[in-house]
Amino acid sequence: MDSSHGKHRKILLVEDEQDIATLVSMHLEDIGVQTTHIDRGDLALIEAAKPEWDLMILDLRLPGLGGLEICRKLREQGRQIPILMLTSKSSELDRVLGLELGADDYVTKPFSPLELTARVKAIFRRVELSQSAAQSAPERYAKPVRCGSLTVDHGKREVRLHGNSVDLTSREFDLLLHFVENPGQVFRRSELLDKIWGYGHEGYEHTVNSHINRLRAKIEDDPAHPMRIVTVWGVGYKLSEERAA
Ligand code: CA
Repeated sequence: MDSSHGKHRKILLVEDEQDIATLVSMHLEDIGVQTTHIDRGDLALIEAAKPEWDLMILDLRLPGLGGLEICRKLREQGRQIPILMLTSKSSELDRVLGLELGADDYVTKPFSPLELTARVKAIFRRVELSQSAAQSAPERYAKPVRCGSLTVDHGKREVRLHGNSVDLTSREFDLLLHFVENPGQVFRRSELLDKIWGYGHEGYEHTVNSHINRLRAKIEDDPAHPMRIVTVWGVGYKLSEERAA
């Protein structure tokens, strides 16, 4: 994305280390993104409720309120803003993944500004793609796709299970949509990373596992024994072609 596409993008950057915040803001400005910086977690939670943000970059350790708490509270409120988490070491990353709080992506400190802007661009590209796809192929998106007891509405970005609305983050929605559009097809974790996250980052396969688990918790009748998104051992995942309506 160049600056002509990115000039309207707004990022809420929550980071208490001034040096990192300055560096990140500078690099985001270079790709045409407007950044608002907040250095306290409790204030960030209030600010994040505003509808203007395209993305939130969220540090894990913050004064006032921690990043995990902020993420959890926003998702509880049904706020679907994309969240990119900043974690300090891999043990913290494990915690983030283990708690499965609904962040869209993660970057481990120390990170290069290039890595961070690449992730930001990938998130924006994904959002843009799903929006333009909905506009350019309205007939395809006019009719919700049904797969057994699941109904996925591309246009409204709505999912229903047994007729009841299911709250998914944008990443979870894209993941489910990908499966529903390719029923029965097996996808490797690396393929899903490439298609849904926009990068084939080695070592990030656990990100896929974590999102699959969260998705299962929301769309499976018994998440411990998934019948819809099933594991194909040694390969990856597929959507089981459930016939019962
Ligand atoms: Ca911090």
